[in-house]
Amino acid sequence: MRLPVESGLRSPSQQNYRRKVSEVLERLRISLDYTPQSWAEILKITERDYQLVLHSQKDISAVALAELAELLKLDFEVFATGAIDYQGVVARHQGNLAYLPDRYSMGAFSRKRTSLGVLQYLEQYYGWRTRDALLRTLQVSETVFQNPEELISVRFLNDTVKHLAKRGYQKYEIFGMGAHSMIVNQGSVFAHALAQCQTPMEAYEKMVLELLAPHFERNYQYRLMYADHSHCILDVKPSEELLSACALKEVASPELCSYRAGVAASVCGYLSLPLSHVTEIRCIHDGAPSCQFNIDYSRATALELKQRMSASRNQAALRVVH
Ligand SMILES: [Zn+2]
Repeated sequence: MRLPVESGLRSPSQQNYRRKVSEVLERLRISLDYTPQSWAEILKITERDYQLVLHSQKDISAVALAELAELLKLDFEVFATGAIDYQGVVARHQGNLAYLPDRYSMGAFSRKRTSLGVLQYLEQYYGWRTRDALLRTLQVSETVFQNPEELISVRFLNDTVKHLAKRGYQKYEIFGMGAHSMIVNQGSVFAHALAQCQTPMEAYEKMVLELLAPHFERNYQYRLMYADHSHCILDVKPSEELLSACALKEVASPELCSYRAGVAASVCGYLSLPLSHVTEIRCIHDGAPSCQFNIDYSRATALELKQRMSASRNQAALRVVH
C-alpha cells in the first residue's frame, strides 16, 4: 500500500537516510562551532525545523544540502555516506586550504606532480567540473597541489583511480592517465635523463636501474626481469617501507595497475617514439607475489632504427657532395 506523504511515515531505508543526514549535519555544526540558530540560518530553515531534522521528523531539502556542500566544498554524496574528514572541513573553513588529511600525509613518498598529472588530464578531457568533483570527493583542496615537488601518499592516487573506476571510467581511460604522465614530466630531470637514451631498450633500463632505484623511489620496488630490443618484462611490488606505513589495499589496486601500465607505455614518448604496448601478465591482486608487465616496444625500436639509418645516409650523402 502506498503511504500518503503527509502521514510522515517513512520506510526503514528513508528513516535510515534521515538519521544519517541529521548526524552528519549536527557533527558538522559542532565541528565548525556554530550555534543551532546560526546553523539553521545557513540551512535557510528555522531553528525549530532544524530540531525536527535532528530528530528525524523532517527532511532537509536537497537544495539546502547542495548549498551547504558548495559552501564547505564537499561532494553532495557525503551527506548520505557520512564519509567526511571533519578535521579537514574545519581546517578549510578556517582558511587553511593547504590542509592535507592524515590519510594522504602519512607514508608520503610520492611527488604531488604525479597526482597533479591526473587532475590535469581530467580537466583537459572531461572539464574542470570533473576535476573539482574528484577533489571534493577526496576532500582535498586545489591549494594542496600548488607545489608539485612536495610529497603526498600514493593513497591519493590509488583513491583517485578507484573512485574514477567506480564512476564508470574504463580501464583504457585510466591507462591514458598513466600515459599522460609523460606530458606532466616534461622538463623534469626524469624526462631529461630518458631523452638522452639512444634506444627504447636503453630507456627502460635507465628508468628501472637508475631513475626508479630504491634511493629515488620509495613506494615500489621495480625490477627488470628481461630486456631485449623488442620487449622487456617489468616486475613491480610495494616496498617494505610503504607496507609498513599503509595496508596493501590502500596503496595498490587493479586500477592502479592500469595506471602504471600507462606510465610504462609512455617511456618511448620521451624519445619522441611511439608508445609501447603493455600487457600485465601477472598481478598481485590475483594472488601473485608481484605484478609483472610485458612491455612491447618493437614498433618504437623499428622506427628508431629507420631514423638512424636515414640520418647516416644523409650524412654520407653530405660527405659525397663536399
Ligand atoms: Zn597488478
